[in-house]
Amino acid sequence: MSTATHPPEETAGLVPDGTSRLLIDGQLVPGSGGTFAVTDPTTEEVVGHAADATAADMDAAIAAARTAFDTTTWSTDHTFRAHCLRQLRDALQGHIEELRDITIAEVGAPRMLTSGPQLEGPIADLGYFADLAESYSWRTDLGQASPMGMPTTRYTQREAIGVVGAITPWNFPHQINFAKIGPALAAGCTVVLKPAPDTPWCAAVVGAIAARETDIPAGVLNVVTSTDHQLGAQLCTDPRVDLVSFTGSTDTGRRVMATAAASLKKVFLELGGKSAFIVLDDADFPSACAMAGIGVSIHAGQGCAITTRLLVPRERYDEAIAAVRDTMAGIVPDDPRRGGTMCGPLISAVQRDRVQSYIDLAVAEGGTVEVGGGRPAGRKKGFFIEPTLISGLDNSSRAAQEEIFGPVLVVIPHDGDDDAIRLANDSAYGLSGMVYGTDPARIQHVVDGVRTGTMGVNGGVWYSADVPFGGYKASGIGREMGVAGFEEYLETKSVATPAG
Ligand code: NAD
Repeated sequence: MSTATHPPEETAGLVPDGTSRLLIDGQLVPGSGGTFAVTDPTTEEVVGHAADATAADMDAAIAAARTAFDTTTWSTDHTFRAHCLRQLRDALQGHIEELRDITIAEVGAPRMLTSGPQLEGPIADLGYFADLAESYSWRTDLGQASPMGMPTTRYTQREAIGVVGAITPWNFPHQINFAKIGPALAAGCTVVLKPAPDTPWCAAVVGAIAARETDIPAGVLNVVTSTDHQLGAQLCTDPRVDLVSFTGSTDTGRRVMATAAASLKKVFLELGGKSAFIVLDDADFPSACAMAGIGVSIHAGQGCAITTRLLVPRERYDEAIAAVRDTMAGIVPDDPRRGGTMCGPLISAVQRDRVQSYIDLAVAEGGTVEVGGGRPAGRKKGFFIEPTLISGLDNSSRAAQEEIFGPVLVVIPHDGDDDAIRLANDSAYGLSGMVYGTDPARIQHVVDGVRTGTMGVNGGVWYSADVPFGGYKASGIGREMGVAGFEEYLETKSVATPAG
């Protein structure tokens, strides 16, 4: 497939004049709505600006993606797509330190996470999806049959679904952007990426690198940053978009599904969670309690799959509280630029105030703040909240049922393995989970019983490019990553010819 003409090289730096651009039809362009500020959540200072797209810009991006899908060989040239994805991965890796600085400044992501899921991991994972484009069995022979007495040879072929609208949140922007861009492009789709207004640069720089340093043809990848959430809704209503791949809150996911229903497009939803960390009575108790406290504090608890309900044997409730309290008291929210920081700021004052209101609600519901409970003493700037442990609530409390999206852990007693399973499942969500124990049969009983999309055992980490991720119940529809995640972006065509 021939390559597109790209705009001339700009001066060094991914955001050279402090304002990022949109990528529409292969061109890096300003937003028709002007610009909006990019704020560092650690310092509360404006670090630059992003292009603010309007509905007209989104319309142009959708048109470009539609034309690229309908009029080029992008969807059928598997080898070329694999080449482009590897080229994108390599180009991103060539800018890795600048990307790291941007990610820490814009997301408040702890530096230590940028060598994993906040940056380097998802970029490397583009190679996995490039490999899949080449190795996938696009055609499956179904052999012969005689429907209605007519000998027939049948096969299925898988084809790209078409134009993908990718709508993403701010908490792990690279992970989520690439978990959509990677498989969608590998499958042969064209993409319009609309990131969250809180993290426009993490997406815009991918657009800039794709345009300047790869052979990705014009219109195949479009990046539209905006303050206007309605541009996400526009992707859902526009009949030229074939699939909406959405990650975000469950409330917005419901709106996405309802809005997309009018044009009957496929929706793929990765939503919220309230996952349970189950400690069985034969578990390595100190390890389990330490992991539970650390897990909820990483990136200030801003992860949908973080385990935010700790279920411990009733007879060891006080012991568990003391152990987790010690762990969480030792995790001091700090500048994410420091190498040892585990818990940075929340993304915005809005999120900080929302988390604080949930801590206040937990107290109003009768809970006890065992550690944390508010802003760290002495820190005048930044949207920080202390890692907070709440005891004394039962699983029906709002603090135990609703997604807080901050470093807040609710500890709840259970009365044995089946009761722990019951409590874990007593939730609208079903995204992730963890079980600590010793007896393999009891562990398997819990793994089988909890209705959730991913489950760790004794600290096991499921996060990887080849592992499908997604939720049961209100946590979503479909799977991201892995072969299952790639196949979300494919249609199936069944073909029959007379045998003979
Ligand atoms: P959000 O739902 O507010 O926004 C997500 C995206 O949707 C943004 O890009 C936003 O502009 C867009 N949007 C807003 N209204 C829209 C509409 N009506 N139609 C279409 N798009 C619209 O979520 P957030 O606050 O950015 O992120 C936090 C939430 O995301 C949490 O609930 C978290 O659990 C969830 N999350 C889920 C996963 C997962 O994989 N399950 C991963 C990360 C975050």
